[in-house]
Amino acid sequence: GLDLAGQHVTVAGLGVSGVPAARALAGLGAVVTVVNGSDGERERAQAAPLEELGITVRLGDGDTLPEGTDLVVTTPGWKPTSPLFQAAEAAGVPVWGDVELAWRMRGPDSPPWLAVTGTNGKTTTVRMLAAILEAEGLRTAAVGNIGVPLVDVVLEPSGTYDVLAVELSSYQLHWAPSVRAHSAAVLNLAPDHLDWHGSMEAYAADKGRIYEGNTVACVYNVADQVTEDLVREADVEEGCRAIGFTLGTPGPSQLGVVEGILVDRAFVENRQQHAQELAEISDVTPAAPHNIANALAAAALARAFGVRPQSVRDGLRAFHPDAHRIEHVADVSGVAYVDDSKATNTHAAEASLAAYEHIVWIAGGLAKGATFDELVQKSAGRLRGAVLIGADRALIREALARHAPDVPVVDLDRTDTGAMSEAVREAARLARPGDTVLLAPACASMDMYLNYDKRGEAFADAVRSLAAQEQ
Ligand code: ADP
Repeated sequence: GLDLAGQHVTVAGLGVSGVPAARALAGLGAVVTVVNGSDGERERAQAAPLEELGITVRLGDGDTLPEGTDLVVTTPGWKPTSPLFQAAEAAGVPVWGDVELAWRMRGPDSPPWLAVTGTNGKTTTVRMLAAILEAEGLRTAAVGNIGVPLVDVVLEPSGTYDVLAVELSSYQLHWAPSVRAHSAAVLNLAPDHLDWHGSMEAYAADKGRIYEGNTVACVYNVADQVTEDLVREADVEEGCRAIGFTLGTPGPSQLGVVEGILVDRAFVENRQQHAQELAEISDVTPAAPHNIANALAAAALARAFGVRPQSVRDGLRAFHPDAHRIEHVADVSGVAYVDDSKATNTHAAEASLAAYEHIVWIAGGLAKGATFDELVQKSAGRLRGAVLIGADRALIREALARHAPDVPVVDLDRTDTGAMSEAVREAARLARPGDTVLLAPACASMDMYLNYDKRGEAFADAVRSLAAQEQ
């Protein structure tokens, strides 16, 4: 275990990772100060229970390093260039992320980690992986960036879990130098969060950290060369293998798809056999290409852990996607309404647009510096029409004008929460029987909604009232 008794630890940030980290540190006997830049009602509400534990909470200044700090534990809100870290570096004080802290708090017989990162598909893949491990009869949990803080998980009594399915974000990996997974996967890499990491190279390097010190397998995406390069550059344990996944026919040491069957050529027990069949494409929900890729990555990690082929199939069958991820809401007048509010960037939206033939696309929101030309070019042939909402909709409208001039576009010029019902009505007007109305905004939601959940719920509500009117 980690000995921090009497050490002065500064936690940068409250919120979903700062609060559990502060509690865990106090539990270890550290003298804890939480610093947080903003000082609002929400922060005060989070601070009060911490103060009852003897933790000092300093609101309104997230930049100054408290006097006498021995260690900084940070959360995703702080950019690597923050003054707080400059001060820490100048003072020779180490900086850990919440995941680094959790790793160092582990007991001697703590369960191995099967870790997943990537720009898109992390949560889905980690849930699939947990379902597969459960089908094998293993005690496991989907944890980490998925919303279950690792500092809490490692405090569970030893023997609670056989293995953990861990989602890690690029922020967490940036500050987690000593984490060593049993096996890990980088699903894909597309520009996202570049304002935090500084550049695409820095972002990729942070993601690649997940492979460092792996003992059994580094799982990469054959279609995404950067992920394979990251495996090559990683310093791994002897005997650790590079395992690829592909939507095509797999090569040796790969998992892939042959005639609608997910097959494994990497972990074949029977030497007489060329490949091991794992599951059918129809065992994966939804059976869209990007999601088959997620299933293959989950299967690769599970197989690296020794899971039997039938458990891969059973686990995938038992898996159901979380809400707002290509979620089928209803059919109205022969048109399918699908909620992919979680498609908050262009890479994710591209994946869901690739899953349908004739689409009326509802898009728009906060672009976060993205451009839409490539997305629109790739998807133009599938678009029956587009309905645009939100702050940065003009960027999408212009991309549509450049690359899909024949596609009818309704620009709603609205950013109020009620815009979604009008958007759904307009989409219904453009759609023909057999089409799909797809909410895949390619943008963040915060211009109109609290989060992507609320945006998805607004869409589902609007679809349900449309259905009620049609009856
Ligand atoms: P994350 O946890 O990485 O944000 P999720 O599993 O929650 O990923 O999926 C987020 C969105 O990304 C989904 O709604 C879907 O649109 C898209 N997506 C999921 N998997 C992939 C993938 N492998 N490649 C591209 N896009 C994906």
